[in-house]
Order: sequence, then C-alpha cells, then structure tokens
Amino acid sequence: MNKVVKFGGSSLASASQFKKVGEIIRADRERKFVVPSAPGKRSSDDTKVTDMLYACYGLAEKGADFTKELQAIKDRYQEIIDGLELKLSLEKEFKVIEKSFKEKAGSDYAASRGEYLNGIIMAKYLGFAFVDAAEVIRFKADGEHDAERTNTLMMDRLSTVEAAVIPGFYGAYEDGRVKTFSRGGSDITGSIVARAIKANVYENWTDVSGVLVADPRIIYKPAGVETITYRELRELAYMGFSVLHEDAIFPVRSEGIPINIRNTNAPEDNGTWIVESTCQKSKYVITGIAGKKGFCAVNIEKEMMNSEIGFGRKVLQAFEENEISFEHVPSGIDTMTIFVHQDEFMHKEQKVVSGIHRLADPDSIDIEADLALIAVVGRGMKSTRGTAGRIFSALAHANVNVKMIDQGSSELNIIIGVANADFETAIKAIYDIFVLSQI
Ligand code: ASP
Repeated sequence: MNKVVKFGGSSLASASQFKKVGEIIRADRERKFVVPSAPGKRSSDDTKVTDMLYACYGLAEKGADFTKELQAIKDRYQEIIDGLELKLSLEKEFKVIEKSFKEKAGSDYAASRGEYLNGIIMAKYLGFAFVDAAEVIRFKADGEHDAERTNTLMMDRLSTVEAAVIPGFYGAYEDGRVKTFSRGGSDITGSIVARAIKANVYENWTDVSGVLVADPRIIYKPAGVETITYRELRELAYMGFSVLHEDAIFPVRSEGIPINIRNTNAPEDNGTWIVESTCQKSKYVITGIAGKKGFCAVNIEKEMMNSEIGFGRKVLQAFEENEISFEHVPSGIDTMTIFVHQDEFMHKEQKVVSGIHRLADPDSIDIEADLALIAVVGRGMKSTRGTAGRIFSALAHANVNVKMIDQGSSELNIIIGVANADFETAIKAIYDIFVLSQI
C-alpha cells in the first residue's frame, strides 16, 4: 500500500524545512508519491513565491522590466538548492520562464512555476521521478477540471514509476496550456494523486497539528480534533474553518480514502483524520465550533402567513431577483426571517424590501444588522440528549442574547444567531461548557 504526501508552502519555505520533509518521507517506505506546494513564507513578514510570481508576471504583462523581481525568485530557489547541497541548476528552466513571461504566457502559467520548480528540487533531493502535472492533470475547454480524464492519465503515468514527485496546484488544457486551480489548490492535486494510485491514506502536511475545535484567535490553545467526517468538515469550513481547500475532499471521498492532516514541525503528533464515516466518538460531544460575523436579518410579518400558500416562495423570489443568496430562514406563524450576508445585501436592501412588498404584500418588514452566526457541529449530538440545553444555558450564563436558532434534521449542527458584539463571548462560553468542563 502506498501513501500520498502533500506538503504545504510553509513546510517547503527553506532548506531546513525541506530537510524535515525529507526525514518524514524517508521514515516511511509507503510514502512514495509526493505533492509539493511552492515555497511559502519563512516568517510572518515574508512573501510566498506564488505571490512573487504573480507580481513579477504583472510587470511582464505591462511590458515593464521584471529582471529584479525574477532574480528575487531565483534567489529563493538557489537558497534551497545550496542549503540542501544539491548538484542542480535551474538556469535552463529560468531561461524558459523569462522568455515565456516576455511572450505573455498567462498568469496561470506564471503562478504554476512555483510548484513546478519546487517539484524539480524535491525530486532531485529524494531521488524520485519528476512527473509534470501538466502531463497528467486535465482541464476542459470551459476551464472545469476533467476528473475522469485526469484519473486515467494519472493512473497510466504513475504505474510506470516506483516513486514520484508531482507538483501541486496546476494542470493543463488538452492543447498543453497551463491552468491552475484556485489558491491553495495543491491540496486538490494531492487528493487526485491519492485517488489515482488508490492510496491507503492521503497525508496532508502543514504547519498545524490538525483541525482545532475552535479558532485559536478566539480560544487560547484550543483542543485538537482526532477524527472528523467529511460532512462535519464541510459544515465547519463553510463557517470559516480553513484547513484544506474545499474541493480537495471530492477525489478521495469517491474512493473512501481518509485524509490525515499532519504537522511538518511536529511529526510525532497524530494530527486529524478526515474520514467518510466513523464509529469513533468525538472526545467532546461536539466536534467543532465555527462562526462568522456580518449578517443581516430581514424580519417579515404578516398575519396568517402560515396559511397563505406560496408566501415563502414569493419572499425568496425578491432575494433571487436581486441575486442575493440566503443563509437561514427561521419562521413562526406570522413571521419569517431571512438571514443574508450584510455586505451582499446592504446596497440592494431597498430594492429587496420593495420587491417583497410587491410580491408578497406583508404587513411589515424590519431589518436588523450586525449579527453573527455560530455553527456548533458534531456527529455526537445525534445520540446525546441535552446538547442544545447546554449550549443555551451556557450562553445565558455568559449574558449572550440568542437571536436565532436553527437545527437541521441531520442533527449534525446547531446554528445560533447572536449580535456581532457577542460573537467571541458566545464561542468562549460554548467551548468552555463542552471542552473545558470535560477535562
Ligand atoms: N502555491 C499556491 C498558493 O499559494 C497553491 C498552494 O500552495 O496550494 O495558493
């Protein structure tokens, strides 16, 4: 059985980080397929090579001189090559890049060179084959990723090598033009490779020891999550958890391959397992808490609304006509509330209000701004009584007024609306009751 190991930019930002990665790969003979990102930041005020490439190409596109900017990128790679004491020259590669920039090969081509060059270094360092992602990852003419064609190409190509490095983030159209995924897309490449080789695990190495129960900017040193399902992760990602590119789940999910998030700087940590389904209970009833500020609630009142067929559809039509997506729609007998993103809604609010009046003829409409939504997610909630009770008593004790409650029938999550100003207090209160009081 083989493993696919993907390393993020911070894991490959310098020669010393490369050495840690080398040790990780050599520690397990199953780690045979490696997907590198471009070198990331070496410190918080550093610049990612991908961003340097975009900026450099921006100059080339305007016809301006980009010698200095390209040299800075060369220097980043040379520092890694020297630090690893490799006998490798990227001179020829950079000649091609310079020429292609002058010929305006496109910003996708430019950005992809970050992973491409790092892949060449990595392959040399490990003694693995280098497989250019442009050969094996396909996009359709309309820019959509061609998953099936990619899978065939990737399977065929990788069956000819013992061990390989496949750079992340990009692929190509049928005619060979390079195209990238959206930012952070090396996660998707790792998942595609794992599917193609039918890996027993997709290890995604980054700079944190996996998924945390809550945002560390709000909770001091939050507990880690050992196992999370794809569905739980999607719920949390939607509410702002950023662990993995959201499209990275699909290729491995179709093959039931688990993802293991690991920390390059602490390889002894088990990290987090992202799985399709599990009978393992999460340590704390809830798996995670996430949330976002900046929502508006549009409260609509009409007497006997509940008996008027089509009322909800007419109200939602007013939002649809103005191209506003809604988040939640809690309702009562004579009231219905629509939660929307404030920044999307703000400049169209009067159009929506008049639209609702025209289409649904309500008694009154009232708008409340500056609200936050918090998602408490956990597969364990389904089988545990009193979860909602504990959440709301914790919020009451913390003096937080709850404006909205929404629990899906899957019982996987409870969404709570509070004022923006209460957001952090509410998350702390929920974390305390489920995690700290369990220790
Ligand atoms: N290097 C690309 C980025 O910075 C892709 C990746 O790292 O996944 O977005």
